[in-house]
Amino acid sequence: MNRDTRELEAHIQALLAEPAPQAPPLAQALSELWQQYQDLLERMERITRVSDAYQSMARQRELSLAERFDKQLRQLEKVARISDRYQKMMRELNLALKEAATHDPLTALVNRRPLLDRLRAEMERSDSRGHAFCVAMLDIDSFKPINDSYGHDVGDSVLVETSRVMESEVREYDLCGRWGGEEFLIILPETSLAEAEAIIHRVRAGIAALRIRVGADALSVTISAGLAQYRTGERYSELLNRADAALLQAKRAGRDRQQSAG
Ligand code: GH3
Ligand code: MG
Ligand code: MG
Repeated sequence: MNRDTRELEAHIQALLAEPAPQAPPLAQALSELWQQYQDLLERMERITRVSDAYQSMARQRELSLAERFDKQLRQLEKVARISDRYQKMMRELNLALKEAATHDPLTALVNRRPLLDRLRAEMERSDSRGHAFCVAMLDIDSFKPINDSYGHDVGDSVLVETSRVMESEVREYDLCGRWGGEEFLIILPETSLAEAEAIIHRVRAGIAALRIRVGADALSVTISAGLAQYRTGERYSELLNRADAALLQAKRAGRDRQQSAG
């Protein structure tokens, strides 16, 4: 409302307020018009106020909706991060459990379980395809005196070093594992007895060449081994017993040698 309008309104109000004993019909009509105009103004102001309040309320609601959405999003992101971490942890734990269940913690070689699984698989393969395969049972000679003279830790180092050489001397598709104590089993797939004998000879030579330093001393060890070629239809325990018996023969014959089962 500009200044002129305000002045005009004030003037009209003043005129209408004046006592008019015989108000002419025009003054009466003007007075009613004036009242209507005032009512209209008031209603418009009321509508504007309501509309303003509604708009600010809507803005507020929009804002809080956006804020709530942001908060939910942040929470969701946090949950996703926690879930990712948890899943990673579970994966690592699973791997560690699998590693612990299938590997020897000292030498990191596979333990009996994977060895037996592989043995059964190779027996099946040999049965169906007819090719030869062999196993070799190896045992460190006079290992107990090493523990007794130098201590268990040195004995452990000997086991670790021996395992390392064993693994490096066998072929990629052979499986070398710790059978228990100072005994090892090597599975040689698709291998004749003559080929297995050559490989085990190489493994034993590699281990005999090892020098394990203990203070000023350089320790060396020898290995005895018993080999057996799989006979179609025999049980895995029979195959292992034959390799074991051959190993015993090698020990009895003076150690540091290998014997093949007949
Ligand atoms: P042989 O030539 O007849 O095989 O004699 P040996 O002394 O090697 O055999 P024996 O069976 O008398 O001794 C094996 C020793 O291996 C006894 C045991 O304490 C030791 N041993 C088994 N497992 C471990 C191990 O993980 N660490 C260490 N340091 N010693 C072990
Ligand atoms: Mg031994
Ligand atoms: Mg033994």
